[in-house]
Formats: sequence, C-alpha cells, structure tokens
Amino acid sequence: MSLRKRINLRNTLAFRLTLWYAGIFTVSSCVAFLLFYILITSFIRERTDQELLSQVNRFSTLLVTEGIEAVKNDAVIEAQAAGIKKVFFRLLSLKGQVFSSSNISYWKDIDINEVAIKELLQGNSSVFETITIPDHKDKVRILYALLSPSIILQVGQAMESYSRFLDAFNGIFITTMTFLIFVAAGVGWFMARRAVSGVEAVTRTAQKISGGTLEERVPVKTQGDEIDQLATTFNQMLDRIQTLLIEIKEMSDNMAHDLRSPITRIRGIAEVTLTTGKSLSEYESMAANTIEECDRLLDMINTMLMISKTESGVDKLSREEIDLTGLVRDACVLFEPPAEDKGVTLSCDVPVRSHLIGDTRMIQRMLSNLLDNAIKYTPSGGTVSVSLSENDERDVVITVKDTGIGISPSDLPRIFERFYRCDQSRSKPGIGLGLSLARAIARAHGGDITVTSRLNQGSTFAITLPTPKSSEIRGVA
Ligand code: ADP
Repeated sequence: MSLRKRINLRNTLAFRLTLWYAGIFTVSSCVAFLLFYILITSFIRERTDQELLSQVNRFSTLLVTEGIEAVKNDAVIEAQAAGIKKVFFRLLSLKGQVFSSSNISYWKDIDINEVAIKELLQGNSSVFETITIPDHKDKVRILYALLSPSIILQVGQAMESYSRFLDAFNGIFITTMTFLIFVAAGVGWFMARRAVSGVEAVTRTAQKISGGTLEERVPVKTQGDEIDQLATTFNQMLDRIQTLLIEIKEMSDNMAHDLRSPITRIRGIAEVTLTTGKSLSEYESMAANTIEECDRLLDMINTMLMISKTESGVDKLSREEIDLTGLVRDACVLFEPPAEDKGVTLSCDVPVRSHLIGDTRMIQRMLSNLLDNAIKYTPSGGTVSVSLSENDERDVVITVKDTGIGISPSDLPRIFERFYRCDQSRSKPGIGLGLSLARAIARAHGGDITVTSRLNQGSTFAITLPTPKSSEIRGVA
C-alpha cells in the first residue's frame, strides 16, 4: 500500500469509526477487568485476614488456658506444620522486642513495624500490613495483635493464592485483551464499512455525474435508514436537475429557433433588396420591414426579461387598488374589434364588483395575453366568454373560456413553459412566452392560473387572485 493510500485511509470516516469503536471497547473491557481484579484481590485479602485473626484467637485462648510456654511451643509446631515458608509467629514485648518465635530463617528480613505497635498501644485491637520482601515471590500479610496486656503476637502469612491469582490474571488479561482488541477492531471496521458504504455509493455516483453521466442513480436498499434517505434525496435531486437541464435545453433550442427566424427574414429582405432593388421606395420598404422584425425581436427579449424579473421578484410590483370589474370590462372592449374581425363572438359577464391590490399594468397584460390567445386559437364562428366571480370572498376568479382548437392532454402540462408552443398552433403568430408571463404575474400577486382543455372543443383558463381585506384597501388608499 502506498504512503498516500495509507494517509488517505487514516483520514477515512470508516477508519476513525473503527478506532473509536475499538477504543471504547478496550476501555470498557479494561474497566471490567479492573473491577474484577479489585473484587477478587479484596476477597483474597479478606480471607487471609480472617485466617490470621483466627490464629490470634486461638493463641489468646491457649495463653489463658495453658500459659505462655504452651503458646511458644504451639507457634513453633503450627509454623512447622503449615510450612516455615508460609507462616511465621513472633511474640513481642510492648517495646517491640522479640522474646520467642517460630523458625524465621526464611523471614529474617522482616522488621518489627514500630508504627503498628504504637497503634496497638493506642487501643487498636489489631493492625494489618502487607509487605513485599526482595527475592520473595509472594507478598506477605502481617497481623499485629495483643495476646495479653503485655504480649504482642506478630503473625505473617505468605499471600500465595494472591500471587497465583495475579499470575493467572495477568496471563488471561493480556491474552483476552489482545484478542478483544483485534475482534473489536474487526467488528468496528466491518460495521463502519457497512455504515459508510451507502455514502460511498453516493460519492461514486456523484463522481460519475461530474464525469458527465447524469443518468446514473444511487442504488436504494429499501431498508429505510439514513443512508437510504440520503440516496433517495440525492436521486430526487438528480431527477430534478435532469428535468431542469432538459427544459433549459429545450428552451434554448426554442429560443435559438425563434431568434433565427426573424434574423433570417431580416437578412433575406436585405439581400433581395440589395440584389434586385433599384428604387428608393424598395429601400424604404426594406427599412420598414427590418424595423418591424427588430421590434418583434425586441418584444420577445423584453418579455423574457419581464418574466425573469417578475418570477424572481427583482422588479417590485406596484400596489394599487384596482377596480377589477372595470379592468375586465375595458379589456373586453379593447379586444372586441379583433374578435369581430375574426368572426369570433366575445362576451363579457362581470356581475360582481371586485377589487384587487396589485399592479394594474401587469394585471392588464396578463388578461390581454389570455384574451389574445383565446381569440387567436378560436376559429371564425366560435365564442370567447370572459367572466368574473368571487370564491368564498377569499379569491376572485377571472375565467377566459373559448370554443377554439383546444390543447391535447400531452401538451397541457407544458404550455406554461417558456417558448413552448403546441404543434397545432404553429401556423398562428406567437413566440410561446405569453402564458409564461401571465402565470408569473398571477403568482407574483399571490394567485395562479389553471387550465382545462379538450382538443378541438376549446379551453378554459382560470386566473385566481386573492381578494384584499378591507383593511388592506384602506391601507393602500
Ligand atoms: P403563443 O405566443 O404561442 O400564443 P403562449 O405562451 O401564449 O404563446 O401559449 C403557449 C401555447 O399554448 C400556444 O402556442 C398554444 O399552443 C397554446 N395555447 C395557449 N392558449 C390557447 C388557447 N386558448 N387555445 C388553444 N391553445 C392555446
């Protein structure tokens, strides 16, 4: 493994999780072992102390019943029987001088503890100490106790079982801990790898996407855990980005197409006039046509800008009190002549008096776009009806209904997209921005536009706008 790879591994989440897991596991195991050690050693010490105290009791009784000589003899015999390397007895004066003892050739390094004697003289019935003697394997537990008001018994016992336990404990501790650390690291690594494998899948997919394959998706394991949620959200985000990119591509294709047509026309007119034009009037006509095409282009660009600004809220809408009833009536009057020219009957039904807070110019533009479309896409003999109604006093609804060419179900969800035009309406003039702007205006006023339509039977566009509370109207006034 290269150095770089090693450093990278150390930086991974899986590695850090493994370290944490193994660390916590090791510390917990050490604490458990320590508790066990304390428990066992105190048990062993307790048991040794009990044995030493029972010796003292026995010698006290012997002293009372049979005298000091019997005690001396018994101490020698007792030490002999137990093993002179295991137990020793000394009888001391109150000044700490030894006046009798068992065979202490093995224990000669053990001094008399003056502090212990002092404590006895101060009233303590017994004093324990544990000492370690150089070159002796076992520790020694020693008890000082008063046998009579003038005799102190010092009894010592090698802590063999303590040493045996310690040896066994050390062996078991080292082996078990080594094993446990390896197991903890292995389990930790396995669990950490499992936990981060989902994140890695997301990373791999993101890497493939940055390499240009937007169709890639992260596999979802249906376990419903956090990683699955991340993968699902990531996939949803990708779906959205993909849809947006497709829409942007289509929009730029449409835009390029819509820009190319007038520019081609301008160029064609100029070319024809240059090659064939002889008179001033022909040049004048070319200039007029060019201006007309340029106006159309400018109109398109301005509409696009207006949609963007309205959608983003860059251009603040003015907030005036609008007499909606009057505004709808005026619009109908305005569109009466073109409707008549086309042989379309335009009816206007505005029984309610409605007010609105908003931008008059924008609302006029929105309504004009819908009326213009309705008349444009309704063949001669058809009707366009405009109506105004209120919905629970909360919304006002302007409906523009026509008996025109209608919109197919497949086109219906897309007609509000910029530059989108249905196939059957391509023969009519238009750039596919009118509905996008109308919807942007409705939404900027807190409302929306919905549409229902049947091919060859007609369409109904409904603009819903929130009615202002009377306090708002007073505020604007
Ligand atoms: P356009 O300039 O093409 O009219 P719009 O954004 O106003 O652009 O409309 C988008 C498309 O929606 C139109 O090209 C047309 O296909 C369809 N459309 C809009 N209004 C109607 C309608 N009243 N009847 C039938 N089709 C319509």
